[in-house]
Amino acid sequence: MLISLIVPCYNEEEALPFFYEAVAKVADEMKEYEFEFLFVNDGSKDKTLAVLKGFAEKDPRATYLSFSRNFGKEAAMYAGFCNAKGDYVAVMDADMQDPPSLLPEMVRYLESGEYDSVATRRVTRKGEPKLRSAFARLFYKIINKISDADVVDGARDFRLMTRPMVDAIVSMSEISRFSKGIFGWIGFRTKWLPFENVERVAGKTKWNFSKLFRYSIDGIVDFSDAPLNFVSGLGVFMTAVSFIALLFVFIRALVVQDPVAGWPSTICIILFLGGLQLLCLGIIGKYLSKTYREVKRRPHYLIGESNRKDVIIK
Ligand code: UDP
Ligand code: MG
Repeated sequence: MLISLIVPCYNEEEALPFFYEAVAKVADEMKEYEFEFLFVNDGSKDKTLAVLKGFAEKDPRATYLSFSRNFGKEAAMYAGFCNAKGDYVAVMDADMQDPPSLLPEMVRYLESGEYDSVATRRVTRKGEPKLRSAFARLFYKIINKISDADVVDGARDFRLMTRPMVDAIVSMSEISRFSKGIFGWIGFRTKWLPFENVERVAGKTKWNFSKLFRYSIDGIVDFSDAPLNFVSGLGVFMTAVSFIALLFVFIRALVVQDPVAGWPSTICIILFLGGLQLLCLGIIGKYLSKTYREVKRRPHYLIGESNRKDVIIK
């Protein structure tokens, strides 16, 4: 039985030694399983690649894929899924926020045969800015309401999956990837393990508020047509309102003859409608740009070097 651990790494030279030590210890303890550590160097600008090569030299379980540039965590995870050979596959962050000590318990759940995946969920958001937590909660509320992807609040990407589930993820080959949505969309029986938030062991987070905000908008656009439906609904509503207003103005002009007054209200209406139209165009444009990127079918990632044979590029 082989377990693959996919580890996306972007500028993680400081955290990686801690991570490797912890994960190697857990792997050594789980004697009945073989392990493969699949580090994906996502175009790091520090010495991450050198650190990974160091691991690979002294440990045959440690392998790496190194991207030609930074493609983002989603692409790094996809590269991992496409290349992992394990019967069980897990994604883990390099910063120890996904505790390796949970692995034995996760494997036990899969071994019971009752589940296809074991996922982890933070029950606290300790150590996170308040505003960020509030927006995160709002995002989960919205996306669960308007999409058919079941996204769990506080869910981490850290989960252990069986081969059929990994194959299902690989088959979802969209360029614009939102893993939390993909995991929910494909279904399968999932066991949730709650745990307390852990702060990263070393180095800095790669996410700031505006990056997270854009990521959440992308997540919604990837998994829901609701914004488009909203825009069409709004269009119908505005048409109905303008028709009534038109009748009103027409009749009033016939009856009272009041040709000049009403300039402020006219300007307000023009500005309001102009703004609304731009907003709607923006929403439509967002979907259009997604479609444009998907139809080009560019690869998700490109690999500069690796110590694995038969590297798969998708
Ligand atoms: N990561 C990556 N590519 C990126 C950004 C992040 O591979 O462009 C990796 C990073 O090295 C880490 C994981 O994704 O292993 C999660 O990143 P981070 O800890 O910065 O996110 P946070 O835990 O703060 O949400
Ligand atoms: Mg982290």
